[in-house]
Amino acid sequence: MPAPFRLYNTLSRRVEDFTPIQPGHIGLYVCGMTVYDLCHAGHARAMVTFDTFVRYLRHRDWSVKFVRNFTDVDDKIIRRAAELGIEPLELAQQQIDYFHEDVRALGLDEPDEEPRVSTSIGGIIAMVERLIERGHAYAADGNVWYDVRSFPNYGALSGQKVDELRNPDVGNGKRVPSDFALWKATKPGEPSWKSPWGNGRPGWHIECSAMASRCLGDSFDIHGGGLDLVFPHHENEIAQSEGASGCGYARWWMHNGLLTMPGGRKMGKSEGNAFSIRDLLQLFPAEAVRLYYLQNHYRSPLPWDQNALPTALAMVCRLYEAREVAESMKGQERAEDVAKSLGDDAQAVLDLSRAFDTQFYAALDDDFNTSKALSYVFELARAVNRFANHKKARKRGGPLVAEALRCFSVVNDALGLLGDDVSKFMQEVKEKRLGAMGIEREDIESLLEERLVARQARDWARADSIRDELEAKNIVVMDTAAGVDWRVRITGA
Ligand SMILES: [Zn+2]
Repeated sequence: MPAPFRLYNTLSRRVEDFTPIQPGHIGLYVCGMTVYDLCHAGHARAMVTFDTFVRYLRHRDWSVKFVRNFTDVDDKIIRRAAELGIEPLELAQQQIDYFHEDVRALGLDEPDEEPRVSTSIGGIIAMVERLIERGHAYAADGNVWYDVRSFPNYGALSGQKVDELRNPDVGNGKRVPSDFALWKATKPGEPSWKSPWGNGRPGWHIECSAMASRCLGDSFDIHGGGLDLVFPHHENEIAQSEGASGCGYARWWMHNGLLTMPGGRKMGKSEGNAFSIRDLLQLFPAEAVRLYYLQNHYRSPLPWDQNALPTALAMVCRLYEAREVAESMKGQERAEDVAKSLGDDAQAVLDLSRAFDTQFYAALDDDFNTSKALSYVFELARAVNRFANHKKARKRGGPLVAEALRCFSVVNDALGLLGDDVSKFMQEVKEKRLGAMGIEREDIESLLEERLVARQARDWARADSIRDELEAKNIVVMDTAAGVDWRVRITGA
């Protein structure tokens, strides 16, 4: 049996016990990218949030059908394609390919379906026809408009008042300012399809209604997206879908908070303040980016901060260090006996590991509180790192930390962190941070070589000055039994 959980519902504005339509199964639709430019850190917050949510649900034995669409027909795509002198659908395809590369690099799983507007036109036209039949829409001069006043429940999600609405859609035949376009008559240079109302293309909102019902049915469990989509997009989806089917649409509405830039502005290409995911992944491993999002509650606004990613990276490194040191511990005794004889730090590891599942799951089952769940992970990692200082830890700590290692594998399965081999991860950290700091690996190695020669010649002053020189570049030199090693100090933490 899958584990029960609670989830905030934007529709009721409360955290509620989640109940699926079909026991054990969850249908989830998430609004995806409008593909006219690269995925940036603002989009990635939604992508990581829902990817991790699905990952967690599956970890808890839910069967999930996860659908995330591409908006490949849109004003922004048409404008950008015209600037570039290519066809809009060609630009969209190129951006979809980039998006797939980016989310793979980010370590996200593929959704079960990724419908696109351009291949969903038949379903969209059928839904518009049904809305006209049922008295929720009217055709005029090649356009079709949704009659907002025909849907008494309009505004239930967003709290908007119909009388005060001015929908920005323009075109012929619109009766009142609140009505919005379901179908737009063709204009020169735009992609268009044949329809009962003449050649044209869908309005923005109808696509998600049509794709969600095709992939998940008229009624399904959870609809997700960024908070900026609540109005008008999701409000209009409800009006369209319920207007067409006569039954309820999504039961839960789950919205992630937005990444905000100084001055409270949204991150966006049009704002000129976007960091693309591919740029960030040049500088940081994917798990640092993932942790950066997950350490904040998904519903909170997330103010962008220069130090946030270095801090997140330093935190992931500490988790890996804890796992590495735990993996290196040996021993044959019972965990309880080790704890008893090695003192409080040892006992703390055992106690925290044994309480871990209950606390970790309780946090995630209460409105997917990843930030609280991670606080238990860090507490455990700190305890392991503290225990590792005990002089007998390496020799006898193995049985004691076995349970902590099991907890770390739960974290990987549930949240997608700590999924790498430690040395591979640390290697990636070195490469990316050296690149970020503009330092060549060969320069470090030749300085270390020079330091070795100085040490052999007992020129301690020279050896120390090389160490200081590297230190100033945030390269920490470590003399170990096995020889000289070095690591990059993660700055900004
Ligand atoms: Zn949508």
